[in-house]
Order: sequence, then C-alpha cells, then structure tokens
Amino acid sequence: MKEAPKTALKILEIIKGASKVCVVGHIRPDGDCIGSQLALTLALESQGMEVMCWNQDPAPAKLKFMDTKGRFQPPSSGHQFDLVIAVDAASYDRLGEVAAFIQDRQKLINIDHHPSNTRYGDINWIASASASSGEMVYQLIQAAKWPLTKEIANCLFTAISTDTGSFQYPSTSQATFVTAGHLVEKGANLGMICDEVYQSYSLSRVRLLKRVYNQFKLTENNQIAYLWLKKSDYAKTGATRADTEGLIDHIRAIEPVLVACLFEELEPGVTRISLRSKHPQVDVDTIARQFGGGGHKAASGARIEGKPMTVQRRLITVLRKAIRNQL
Ligand code: 5GP
Ligand code: MN
Repeated sequence: MKEAPKTALKILEIIKGASKVCVVGHIRPDGDCIGSQLALTLALESQGMEVMCWNQDPAPAKLKFMDTKGRFQPPSSGHQFDLVIAVDAASYDRLGEVAAFIQDRQKLINIDHHPSNTRYGDINWIASASASSGEMVYQLIQAAKWPLTKEIANCLFTAISTDTGSFQYPSTSQATFVTAGHLVEKGANLGMICDEVYQSYSLSRVRLLKRVYNQFKLTENNQIAYLWLKKSDYAKTGATRADTEGLIDHIRAIEPVLVACLFEELEPGVTRISLRSKHPQVDVDTIARQFGGGGHKAASGARIEGKPMTVQRRLITVLRKAIRNQL
C-alpha cells in the first residue's frame, strides 16, 4: 500500500481530537462521492464520534445499496461541529446548499483528487494522482488502523470502481488494484456491487439512451461527438437526472471520437456541460476551467450561462482549436 502522506497524518491528529463531525460532498453526488462520504462516516462512528453525513441531493437509486443505515441525509440547521470534512468536492461552491449549514465549525478539512481543487479548506489534502477520493479515504482508514468492515469495503470498492470506469480509465494505477484487492479480501461484494451499479438500468434510462443514439451529432471529422439533453427528453422518457450518469460514455466510446460533450438544459439560460477526452494532449480540465468549471484531464464539467446555441458554439470552437493544435 502507498504510505499516507504527511497531510493525511496531520488530518488524523485533528480527527482524533474531534467529537462532533460532519462529512460532506458535492452536489449531484456520484459513486465516488457517496462511497467516500459513507465510508468515512462509518469509520469515524466506529471511533465513538457523533457524525452527520450530508449532501444537498439524495443518492441515485442505483447507489442507495451502499447506505444500509440511511446515513446519507440532506442538511439540517442548528448544529455545531468540531470538524467538517469535505470529500470529492473540487470547490466550496460544489457543496451547494450544504454550505449554509456548516458555518458553525472549528475546522474544515478538504480531501479530494481533482487537480482543479481550489484548496478552500483549513487543511487541504489534494492527491491528483489518485484515481478516486475513495482511495484517499482508504489510505486514511489504513493509516489510522480503524477497522475496515465489510460495509466500509463495499462503499470504498464502489467509489473506486465507479470513478475509474470499472478500472478502465488511465488514472487506474497498480495501487488502485492493490487497494481494490484488499477491499475484496475485507468482504467487498464484487458481484452485488457490479449488479447494482452496472446491470440494473431503469427502463427510463434505456428510453433515454435510445434518444441519445438517435440525436447525437458528430463534427470535426467525427472527432467531436456532442449531444443535448433537453427538458423534453426527460418528459418523453420519464428519465430523471440520476439516469444520465454514464450516458456520455456511449458517445465517447465511438472509435474516431477524441472529445465527447454533453449539453444539458438546466433552466432557461443555464447549461451544464460534461466533457470527456480520449486524447492525452486534449486536456478538458483546462477547457472546463475557461468556462468556470473544472475536473480532470479526461473528464470535466461546468455550468455556463447564455443562450443554448451560443454556449454550444463557444464550446465547440474551443474544442476544435484544442484538437487542431494537437494534430
Ligand atoms: P460529470 O461530467 O460526470 O458530471 O463530471 C466529470 C468531472 O468533472 C467530475 O470529476 C466532476 O467533479 C467535475 N465537474 C463536473 N461539473 C463540474 C463543475 O461545474 N465544476 C467543477 N469544478 N467540476 C465539475
Ligand atoms: Mn471523484
């Protein structure tokens, strides 16, 4: 196992002096965020701390299996915390509505693997070489010698599996496999997790996917694929936001495509974009940052204001330039 860095040890010292803790994560939480939040919550509880596990949004149905004790909750007022720990959240903004409920605290710790992390904590442990925040929580639990229960192992395995695209993205390292192997040894139920996460699509998602295949567009010599999700797509298929996770991978996987982009109409004049790059020199983290967002080199996102077609034109222009500069 990789040794925990000094910052992680410092974080452990601070945790050991705390008794009331709140573990928070980013809006529209994914498997890495939920798994990391829950694993850390359970580990701290095992040490006798009082722990809240808050997120603005609920866990998507297919990730609820991790929360066997119903710990993943929306925030509530009237709490004082010795410590707030944010996991997998690249900026303070990404905590969404939770931010207003964690003001009364002694310290804020920021544990994350996004290179675009804005270092908003009092202590920041940012490991951009880590493929998931789950691996960082694993390192922390191991360094502290806290028990790695079966339930914690399930949460961390799910975190790692989802953020590495089932161990496919180049961010997956030897350490990722060693960690995942140890989690299986500790009882992570690989069959159950894969069944829940990858083999249990809702019918509404499949209907949405049909539309995706009908509607996506290609440009720049088939090297850019893009797709719009409009309110009417949700209305016509019965799909919800939770059904959109991983949709972009279907257009990313087309052989000549170097960059995939998903545009989603959030409200009139606000578009969410998701970007995926398959070209090592086309860094979509840098591109998303130009639009006020961020993420990783190969996967990023942003929220952009403006007319939908203007947003599309601006973004496609930047993507074209990024590709032309590399070829
Ligand atoms: P997704 O496309 O799956 O929503 O996000 C891909 C990656 O980009 C994730 O690592 C996510 O944290 C990051 N990301 C998505 N949207 C935003 C955003 O609005 N701001 C920032 N800073 N990062 C984002
Ligand atoms: Mn993550």
